[in-house]
Parts: sequence; C-alpha cells; structure tokens
Amino acid sequence: MRDATMTQSRPALEDLMQHADFIDRHIGPNRSQQKAMLAALGFDSIDALIQKVVPPAILSRQALPLGGPRSEAETLAALRQIANRNQLFKSYIGMGYYNCHTPTVILRNLLENPAWYTAYTPYQAEIAQGRLEALLNFQTMVTDLTGMEIANASLLDEATAAAEAMTFCQRLSKSKSKVFFVSQDCFPQTIDVLRTRAEPIGVEVVVGDHRRDLERLDCFGVLLQYPALSGEIHDYADTVRQAHDKQALVVVAADLLALTLLTPPGEFGADVVVGSAQRFGVPIGYGGPHAAFFATRDADKRVMPGRLVGVSVDSRGEPAYRLAMQTREQHIRREKATSNVCTAQVLLANIASMYAVYHGPHGLKAIAQRVHRLTAILAEGIRWLHHAVPTSAFFDTITVHTGGHTQDIHAAARNQSVNLRSIDDGNIGIALDETTTREDVEALWRIFAVGKTIPSFAVLEAAVAERLPGALMRSSTFLTHRVFNSHHSETQMLRYLRALADKDLALDRSMIPLGSCTMKLNATTEMIPVTWPEFGGLHPFAPLHQAEGYQQLIAELEQMLCVCTGYDAVSLQPNAGSQGEYAGLLAIRAYHQSRGQGQRDICLIPSSAHGTNPATAHMAGMQVVVVQCDAQGNVDVADLRAKADQHAADLAALMITYPSTHGVFEEAIGEICEIVHAHGGQVYIDGANMNAMVGLCEPGKFGGDVSHLNLHKTFCIPHGGGGPGVGPIGVKSHLIPFLPGHRMLENGIAPVAAAPWGSASILPITWAYITLMGAQGLRLASEVAILNANYIVHRLKPHYPILYTGSNGLVAHEGIIDLRPLKDKTGITVEDVAKRLIDYGFHAPTMSFPVAGTLMIEPTESESKDELDRFCDAMIAIREEIRAVENGEIAAEQTALRHAPHTAQDLTDDWQRAYSREQAVFPLHALRQDKYWPPVGRVDNVYGDRNLVCSCPPMSDYE
Ligand SMILES: *Cc1c(COP(=O)(O)O)cnc(C)c1O
Repeated sequence: MRDATMTQSRPALEDLMQHADFIDRHIGPNRSQQKAMLAALGFDSIDALIQKVVPPAILSRQALPLGGPRSEAETLAALRQIANRNQLFKSYIGMGYYNCHTPTVILRNLLENPAWYTAYTPYQAEIAQGRLEALLNFQTMVTDLTGMEIANASLLDEATAAAEAMTFCQRLSKSKSKVFFVSQDCFPQTIDVLRTRAEPIGVEVVVGDHRRDLERLDCFGVLLQYPALSGEIHDYADTVRQAHDKQALVVVAADLLALTLLTPPGEFGADVVVGSAQRFGVPIGYGGPHAAFFATRDADKRVMPGRLVGVSVDSRGEPAYRLAMQTREQHIRREKATSNVCTAQVLLANIASMYAVYHGPHGLKAIAQRVHRLTAILAEGIRWLHHAVPTSAFFDTITVHTGGHTQDIHAAARNQSVNLRSIDDGNIGIALDETTTREDVEALWRIFAVGKTIPSFAVLEAAVAERLPGALMRSSTFLTHRVFNSHHSETQMLRYLRALADKDLALDRSMIPLGSCTMKLNATTEMIPVTWPEFGGLHPFAPLHQAEGYQQLIAELEQMLCVCTGYDAVSLQPNAGSQGEYAGLLAIRAYHQSRGQGQRDICLIPSSAHGTNPATAHMAGMQVVVVQCDAQGNVDVADLRAKADQHAADLAALMITYPSTHGVFEEAIGEICEIVHAHGGQVYIDGANMNAMVGLCEPGKFGGDVSHLNLHKTFCIPHGGGGPGVGPIGVKSHLIPFLPGHRMLENGIAPVAAAPWGSASILPITWAYITLMGAQGLRLASEVAILNANYIVHRLKPHYPILYTGSNGLVAHEGIIDLRPLKDKTGITVEDVAKRLIDYGFHAPTMSFPVAGTLMIEPTESESKDELDRFCDAMIAIREEIRAVENGEIAAEQTALRHAPHTAQDLTDDWQRAYSREQAVFPLHALRQDKYWPPVGRVDNVYGDRNLVCSCPPMSDYE
C-alpha cells in the first residue's frame, strides 16, 4: 500500500487546502450536482441563471470587500483570540442579570444539541410535541411561581415584557387616563424601554415613589419591582389596593428565584407578573438571549401577548400539545394584533424550564435559601465593617452606604476582578447569586474593609437571622406536578431530554423548507464559541474596557453587515426581526420629527407583507395604508403612486419586503423607492429575504433607507424552536443619529431592548459564518439558494401550479405552489398536504403565507440535490394521492392525506382504511430505511381553543 501511494504524483498543497474548504461544507449541492440542476433548468452556468433572476439594474458585479474565506480551524482560533480579550470579572451588579450554573446535562443535551437548537417554531404541532411539552413546563413553572392563572411562552426580555404589560393594561383598564406609573425602584433599563414604547402610542410614563406619588395620580397601570432594584422587598398590598381603586391594573416585575421563598404577586393582587427567566440556568451572555415571561389572569388570556402552548387532543382522542389561540397573533390580526411577537426565546425558555425540572421545587428552594443566607451574612459583615446597609428586608441584593469610601471600594473591587453596582457617590449595590460561595463573601468583605480586618464567617453564620420580610413568606406550594418531581438524577434527566428531542423534527433529521424562514445550516464551528465562558459570563453592564473582545466582535460584525447590505451603519440591539422593524420605524419617525415633519405618520404596506410589518407600524404610532399587488404578485405601481400622491403631506414610510414575499425580484423596485422618496417618505426594506441577495445586490444601494436583517435566517443563528434571534438594522447615513441607544453608552435615541447589544452572546455565530465564507462563499450561497429554489420549482411545475414567477419564469430563493385549484376540485386542503408530508419525514413548507391555500418552499443553499429530490419525490407522490381523488377512485375523507400523519399506534388498530398500512407509513420505499414516527396524530385545533388548558395537565388525563 505504502509503496503505491509513494509513487503517485503528489497533489499541490494548495489543492489539499481547498479540499477542506468550509464553503463546500456549508453549501449542500457539490459542483457536479449544481451542474446537473443548472442543466435541468437549461443554463450552462450559475452566472447565467442569476443574470436572468436578479434585475440587471441592481445586480452588482463586484465582490464584497470582505476578508476570508478562512478555514474552520482558523476561524475558531481567531474567535479564541477575541474571546481572550474579554475579562471575566465576578459581577455582583444584578439588575435582572445573575450568574448561574447551567446544569451540564442541560448544557450539552439541550443548549448545545442541534435536535433542540435547529428546530423551528412549533406551528406544526405533530412534529413538535417534545419542545411543546418543554414549553408547557415553562408555562406551568411561571404560573406556579408567580401565583397567576396563566402564563405565555415566552417574550424577548424583561424590559419588553414590561412594555407589553403596559399596553395590555391600557387595553383592559377602565381608566381613561393616559398615564402609566412606574416605581423608581424598577430596573432603569426597563424604564428606558417603557419610555420608548410609550411615546409613539401617546402614553405618558410617570416615574416616582409608589408610597408617595401614586396616591394623587390618575393612571391606567402601575409597574412595581419585586424585589426592587435597591434589593428591598416592599409589601405592595396597599399599593395594589390603591391602584385598583382608581381602575388601574398592577404589573409586578418579579424574580423567579425569590418567588420560591416569597409570597407570589398573584396572592397580593397583581394583575400581571413579568420578568426574566435568565437565572434559571441561562448564561448571562453579555445581555442575552434570555427568555422573559408574562403571566396574568385566565379571563384576560385573549389579550395576552406572545405564544401560548395549550393541550388538545389528536385524531385518536389522545392528549397532544399545540400553540393555542393563534388568531391573536400578528400574522392573522396584523395591525390589530395584541402584540408583535414572532421569534421569541424558545430555546432559552426550554433551558429555564428544564432547570426547574432538574432541580425540582425543593432544589430551587434550597438554591434560593442559600443565596439569601449568604446575602444576610454578607450584609451583617458589611455592617460590622461600619458601613450602613439601609436595605431592611431583602433576598439577594443589598444597598450599602459607603460614605466617603465609594471610590476606594470600587478601586479595591477592580483590583480583585470584581464588579459592584455603582449607584452614586455614596452608595454601592451588591447582588449575590447561585454561584456565590463563602470565599466570595469573604472577598467582598475584604473589598469593603479597605485594609481593616474582616469578621469571622463562622461567627456571623451562627449569629445571623434571615432577612426576608416575615409577612411576605411564601406558604403556598409550587411545582407539585410530577414532571418537576421525577427527573432529578442525571440519568433520568438525560433520558427525558432525549425522549422529548426524539419526538421532534429539526434540521438534524431533514430539510425544513419553510419559505421566508431560511432554515439553513447552523454549522457546529459557528456554534462552538457561544458557550465559551468568555462570551457567556459577561454582565451587560460591566465596564466597557472589560469587554474588549465583545467590542471588537461587535465593531467587526457591524462593519461586515454594512458591507453585505450597502448601508452606512448597523445597530445590533434589536433581538428579533420584529424588534428591528420597530427600531427602524422609530428611526424614520425621529428623522421626520428632526426636520419639523412630525406629522408624517402614514406607512404604506403592500398586501403581501408579513403580518409583523403592519403590527410594527401600529406600535410605532403610524397609520397603515395597504398597497395592492397585481396578478403577478408584484406591487401595483399605479396604486402605490396614487396612494403616495394622496398622502404626500403625511407619508412617513413604505415597508416592503425584497425580494417580495411572493418569491420574486420585482423589477420595479428602483421606481418604487423613487416614488416614495419623491413624496417625502422613507423606504423600509424588510430584509427577511436577504438570503437571496447577499453578495448579489444591496438594499442600501438600490433605494432602501433602513432594513432589518434576521441573523437567525440569513446569517446562520439557529431558530432554537422559535428563538433566539437577532434583528439588526442597517441605515443610510442620515438615519445614524436615530439608531437605538442605551444608557450604558449615552448614544442614539431610546433603546428597544434591555441590553445595549441585545442578544450579544450569539453574535459570534454570524461573525464566524461571514468569516468562514468570505465574499465568494456568501455570493455562492445566495446563488445556490436561488438555484435550489428554481430546481424545486422546475421539478414540481408539471405537478402543481406555481403561483408567482418573475418575467422569465424563474423565482428567487423561494417558490409558492398553489393548492387552491386542487382543493376546489378534490376537497384536499393545504393542511392535508402539510400533515401528509410528515409521513414522508418532512416538515411542511410555510402554509398559507403570504397567500391562503398555498405552500411556500424555501430550500436554502445548504440542502444537497439528493435532499431536494427526496422532497420533490414526496411532493410528487402526494400529488398522485390527490389525483386518485380527482379521478374518483377514493373519497377525500378516506385518503391517507386526510388521516395524516400516521402514528405507529394507528397501525396496531383493526385496519379498516381504504388504503394499506404500507401506503400509510411507507409510501416511498426509502422510508423503510429511515422513518420518522410522529408521536401523535393530527391535532384538533378547534377542541384545543374551546377547552383551553395551558399548564401541565394532571397525570390522570393520560391514563
Ligand atoms: C421572519 C419574518 C419577519 C419577522 O422576523 P422575526 O425575527 O421572527 O421577528 C418579518 N418579515 C418577514 C418577511 C419574515 O419572514
């Protein structure tokens, strides 16, 4: 053997390097598969295809000025160097962000497990029972701990949850007041976001002392923090009564860990409880991502924001989970929606819920008691050192009067690599957490001793009593359900996580061809740095110079995204696409105001737009005017011109998705932008479809003033089962002064998120992707995304009508197949097809968006030709099943389509169907080798909404 290889000619080192190229790992079809697909489409090069698809007026000919491509090893090494520039101080800053231990069994098997992180939002309930169960656990956990009746899963961060609560109160309160009262002892970043959200909708935020200032005030809602910013645990019973007397609703922002020991807000009359679930096992990550929660009364569930998991039954009457009451959501209700929550924080909510499952009620309580005890001992020691501690009743946070020593103490802390919360010249805050040890407390004493000797821990430990308020001790039980009392050994937990993951379809099993959602590869190399402590362990309010690594990463990523989009500046703060839209419209609004044009409040939105667009415009205080689309799915330019004319004096913006949600590059885009600009409006280009454009054309160059990107679509951040996400916005230079700012940075306008860089800890994913691909890889990705979509359309066209194509019969990166004619003929619905695809092992494409009765297919560049063919074979086989109905061979009600999906249990019944068992579960031969078995049959949506159950049902229900 050896001799044989020795005699062969040696390949050049360069070629050997090429072989390990990441670009070929990321892009699914290899060169010969690309050739074969191009040939099928009648092109001899990918360039020739792209020149037909992308309008020549916008197609760029130059490579993006980016570095790279770099290998996976090089990229990880570069990120390692960046990470090393972050200094891991021990932070006692608190303010809603606490260190915690992510149980390693959860770290590896959930947070770092693609079966969990590559899943999509659980709209297709039958393939999402695992993550739906985890989310139901989250809702149960929040309901129990807060003492409320119902909770959602989940919101973006505590500050936006408080803002949602504010609008919720306004909708429900009988008070006519426009004032929302906020206790000055609330987290300042929450107050800032409330102010941002209040202003455009005409709400006035009044901040004051709840004991003094509420009495004389007329308001529709009140926000209180429990425990408060200072650490004090106030008894809010009188405040709640006072608020209710004036028809105001009361929102309590609460700490879940403290609630294991304290009377839950639901027991002292709160109408809404919000907060962050971060400290339940989710790394701080320099500010995010974390899950926030929202809990309220059952009676008000219909106006509750966010997603709600409910229990229903499947086709056999067995219990099954699903997303409940989706008609509240923005893709149905548009500007009348109760909120604009799309991508939320599902992965992080799942981590928090599993933290509670793993520790159970007793474990959680022990953690809380330990934190409290250490805090009480700490406070006593600090008093012993002659500093006053004015916090009288507290859980884990105290305020210290440091008098003239404040600067010395901060300096001593810095010397010990410790961050304390700087309050003012005479006060310092300290918040302990799950990770604090006895040694940490002694180190804190040394810092406050400024040279003096410190007390004996053992002596104080023996002497110190609890400092929780006696009148507010929790007496009610919580987390009594079996799921929180079963999986406490690692073996049990491991198997529970595995069992749930096995119920679900994620990208680790098959292609997820969801149009507009861009379910592409989330490469392992991109994911690895996310859980490095140097990225995960930083507090968002730590001094900037400790975060040089993050600052470098953020600056470089902003620059990369400017290059990719043609904009002049980027803000990474928005933590979802919907938040980016909001930040973008606020920038437009502030720009008009700065020019004395504050009256401009009309937002034109094409009828094809995603529901978040009108919902966002409404939140930004704008009026939505719908622009029609023509028969080809393009914006009706004449209608646009007429509406722009009609509203010329008040035109604020056009929101347009490009390429359109109809999956084509509209050739009139330049003209459309010109019309809007000529009438004094700004152009917002929704960048959700950026996966068709990177490297090919730049929205900042062809007429956009501002765009958001969805880094969880185009730029490889995984969907996490419905979040996290990052929705940065890019702007042209005239809008730079109106980008979201933050109190940490003293820049820009008001913030839209609690943390200065939103979900900072997942930014390395996108940095890595762009670095690995470089300009040539990014362009090729867009090209192959377009090639793959056109190949699917080409294969399906003989079988299904294609709804929209460009002028030369081609689509962009996604295509819509129209099932309405087949439904008219046969009664087989788009839902039947979606559920039947599960039997073939696929997640359905996007259903009924942007057009009811259609399926929108987006394969992305990461799927190989083999996988595309497997999907097309399934779709074609399904078409033949529909044909049998068309030909009168079988009634629609008797088909496998209508009974889909089929469970293993179905097969064990006395089989009375009009089709065989083989046809049910192995309709294609290849499925015998590799079969996904859905755990439940088709879930009954109507039953679920009529009999709403939104927390873990008693085990007896399963018997
Ligand atoms: C996904 C999407 C959005 C919303 O983005 P989120 O990150 O889910 O908030 C907006 N517009 C379009 C066209 C989308 O596809």
